[in-house]
Amino acid sequence: MTVREPEWTEQDRAEILALGLYRSQMCPLHGGPLEECTSHEETGAQFEASRSTCRAQLALIEAQRAADDGKKPSPYAGARLWTLRKRG
Ligand SMILES: [Zn+2]
Repeated sequence: MTVREPEWTEQDRAEILALGLYRSQMCPLHGGPLEECTSHEETGAQFEASRSTCRAQLALIEAQRAADDGKKPSPYAGARLWTLRKRG
Protein backbone atom coordinates (compact mmCIF):
# COMPACT_ATOMS: atom_id res chain seq x y z
CA MET A 1 0.00 0.00 0.00
CA THR A 2 1.29 3.42 -0.97
CA VAL A 3 0.74 6.28 1.41
CA ARG A 4 0.80 9.63 -0.32
CA GLU A 5 0.94 13.08 1.12
CA PRO A 6 -2.53 14.60 0.89
CA GLU A 7 -2.70 17.39 -1.68
CA TRP A 8 -4.51 19.63 0.76
CA THR A 9 -3.34 20.09 4.29
CA GLU A 10 -5.70 20.53 7.20
CA GLN A 11 -4.79 24.23 7.06
CA ASP A 12 -5.69 24.41 3.33
CA ARG A 13 -9.08 22.83 3.99
CA ALA A 14 -9.76 25.19 6.89
CA GLU A 15 -8.83 28.19 4.75
CA ILE A 16 -10.99 27.15 1.77
CA LEU A 17 -13.94 26.57 4.09
CA ALA A 18 -13.39 29.99 5.65
CA LEU A 19 -13.15 31.56 2.17
CA GLY A 20 -16.41 29.87 1.13
CA LEU A 21 -18.13 31.13 4.25
CA TYR A 22 -16.77 34.65 3.67
CA ARG A 23 -17.90 34.66 0.03
CA SER A 24 -21.36 33.38 0.93
CA GLN A 25 -21.82 36.49 3.04
CA MET A 26 -20.89 38.86 0.24
CA CYS A 27 -23.36 40.33 -2.25
CA PRO A 28 -22.93 38.93 -5.77
CA LEU A 29 -24.03 42.28 -7.18
CA HIS A 30 -21.88 44.89 -5.48
CA GLY A 31 -19.30 42.71 -3.72
CA GLY A 32 -19.83 44.16 -0.24
CA PRO A 33 -21.41 42.53 2.79
CA LEU A 34 -24.92 41.18 2.10
CA GLU A 35 -25.93 42.13 5.62
CA GLU A 36 -25.39 45.80 4.78
CA CYS A 37 -27.04 46.05 1.37
CA THR A 38 -30.06 43.98 2.38
CA SER A 39 -30.57 45.85 5.66
CA HIS A 40 -33.64 47.95 6.35
CA GLU A 41 -33.66 51.04 4.17
CA GLU A 42 -34.37 53.41 7.05
CA THR A 43 -32.19 51.94 9.78
CA GLY A 44 -29.43 50.24 7.81
CA ALA A 45 -26.42 51.46 5.90
CA GLN A 46 -26.85 54.24 3.37
CA PHE A 47 -25.25 54.10 -0.04
CA GLU A 48 -24.15 56.57 -2.63
CA ALA A 49 -23.24 55.54 -6.14
CA SER A 50 -20.62 57.13 -8.30
CA ARG A 51 -19.36 56.26 -11.73
CA SER A 52 -15.97 55.73 -13.21
CA THR A 53 -14.80 53.77 -16.23
CA CYS A 54 -12.49 50.79 -16.40
CA ARG A 55 -10.39 51.89 -19.38
CA ALA A 56 -9.00 48.39 -19.82
CA GLN A 57 -12.51 46.97 -20.29
CA LEU A 58 -13.35 49.93 -22.51
CA ALA A 59 -10.40 49.10 -24.79
CA LEU A 60 -11.61 45.51 -24.93
CA ILE A 61 -15.17 46.51 -25.84
CA GLU A 62 -13.89 48.88 -28.52
CA ALA A 63 -11.70 46.15 -30.03
CA GLN A 64 -14.62 43.72 -29.98
CA ARG A 65 -16.90 46.20 -31.70
CA ALA A 66 -14.24 46.99 -34.30
CA ALA A 67 -13.85 43.26 -35.01
CA ASP A 68 -17.53 43.11 -35.92
CA ASP A 69 -16.99 46.03 -38.31
CA GLY A 70 -20.25 47.74 -37.35
CA LYS A 71 -22.29 44.65 -38.18
CA LYS A 72 -24.28 42.47 -35.86
CA PRO A 73 -21.87 40.29 -33.81
CA SER A 74 -21.18 36.88 -35.30
CA PRO A 75 -22.96 33.98 -33.59
CA TYR A 76 -19.44 32.70 -32.90
CA ALA A 77 -18.31 35.91 -31.18
CA GLY A 78 -18.68 34.24 -27.80
CA ALA A 79 -15.97 31.75 -28.75
CA ARG A 80 -13.37 34.41 -29.47
CA LEU A 81 -10.45 34.64 -27.09
CA TRP A 82 -9.31 38.15 -26.33
CA THR A 83 -6.13 39.26 -24.66
CA LEU A 84 -5.81 42.52 -22.83
CA ARG A 85 -2.37 43.87 -22.05
CA LYS A 86 -1.13 47.12 -20.64
CA ARG A 87 0.91 49.26 -23.02
CA GLY A 88 3.81 51.32 -21.81
ZN1 LIG B 1 -25.38 44.26 -2.65
